[in-house]
Amino acid sequence: MRTAVQQARVVVIGAGQAGLSVAWHLQRAGLSAGSDLVVLDRAPGTGGAWQFRWDALRLGLAHRVHDLPGMHEMGLRFDEADRSRPAREVVAEYYRRFEERHDLRVRRPVAVTAVHREDERRPDGSAGALVVETREDDGTTGAIRSEVVVNASGTWGTPFVPWIPGRDVFRGRQLDTTGYRDAADFTGQDVVVVGGGTSAIGFLLELDGVARSTRWFTRRPVVWSEDPALAVGAAVSAVEDQDRAARAGRTLPSIVSGTGLPVTPRIRRGLARGLLQPEPMFTRLDADGVETATGEHVRADAVIWATGFRADLRHLAPLHLRTEAGGIVVEDGRSGAEPRLFLAGYGPQASTIGANRAGRRTARQVMAVLAADDTVAPA
Ligand code: FAD
Repeated sequence: MRTAVQQARVVVIGAGQAGLSVAWHLQRAGLSAGSDLVVLDRAPGTGGAWQFRWDALRLGLAHRVHDLPGMHEMGLRFDEADRSRPAREVVAEYYRRFEERHDLRVRRPVAVTAVHREDERRPDGSAGALVVETREDDGTTGAIRSEVVVNASGTWGTPFVPWIPGRDVFRGRQLDTTGYRDAADFTGQDVVVVGGGTSAIGFLLELDGVARSTRWFTRRPVVWSEDPALAVGAAVSAVEDQDRAARAGRTLPSIVSGTGLPVTPRIRRGLARGLLQPEPMFTRLDADGVETATGEHVRADAVIWATGFRADLRHLAPLHLRTEAGGIVVEDGRSGAEPRLFLAGYGPQASTIGANRAGRRTARQVMAVLAADDTVAPA
């Protein structure tokens, strides 16, 4: 079934940290959630990507999770949340209370399948609305015409796994970060973990004493960051690298390679036990394991690819945003190729603090676009 075309001033795609932050600021700027402002999310529940993260992940284990704007007035702070509960439960609960308190009326599960430009031009010659195509779980499709679209679709839907010879030959289990649930699934197994970020380290620490053996392979040497002050400086410069790449329309560099990995007390204990010993990337997989750079055969029941994510922008393909350099041009959260499109949580904004800041800045720019639209005389 296809529903009648609806109308909105702004559609926000995604109700994670970035989408909720933008929606909150737009509502404060005067838009009515549910009519002027429509927030869509394809996931079944609240929490953005956090609702899908593995059981053992707790808030504060690796990085800080920043509060959404408007959470403090509700008496909620992530720093004070119950750390004995899985992060996915806590974040989903806090976001749910946030959505309810601010009456953001998120429509879910509604997947955005495509965003395209309306064919017709407006009387002043400027481009027409953007059209957001949607699909619900029961197959119902729909479309929303909107003056502005804010894409806040995150990265969880597009995990990145590098191509290594033999990936199609290995007979054991292969999974990426989105498929990892519980260390107990690997009880007594030989496990290879790939990736140089905090997810890979988290898996190795959880598998210790559960798996029969673990080996850790990374494509770049691991740089540990012992000094919190240096880590902050490195984080700032990594965000600047992301910003430069986004403005130039290049693919985004890895954040971790720019910041180094902070040595938390838990990681220090893992290092002391000799558990966290990265090896250079293996050269190939075969039916029952991997072959290291030195030619050693490592038997494996499972290979966990904790090798990062890419921005999930597949539904934006009809807008033809890709540059020859392989990325898309994004300047201060706004698409360089489509001025009615904003990308919250993209590149330099891809952390909970970045997503928060994005909310305020994006909302201000969106309101300026709407105000300019209002000055266009109707036909
Ligand atoms: P998401 O939380 O991914 O939200 C995007 C939303 O968009 C989702 O709800 C999704 O359902 C929806 N969506 C996507 N595509 C569509 C579509 N086509 N149609 C409709 N809806 C769609 N950051 C920190 O600051 N601190 C941390 O401790 C931290 N830990 C992390 C741990 C892991 C394992 C990972 C992978 C990331 C971590 N991050 C952390 C980064 C974190 O993901 C971001 O900081 C933040 O949660 C991302 O928010 P977001 O709103 O951009 O994306």
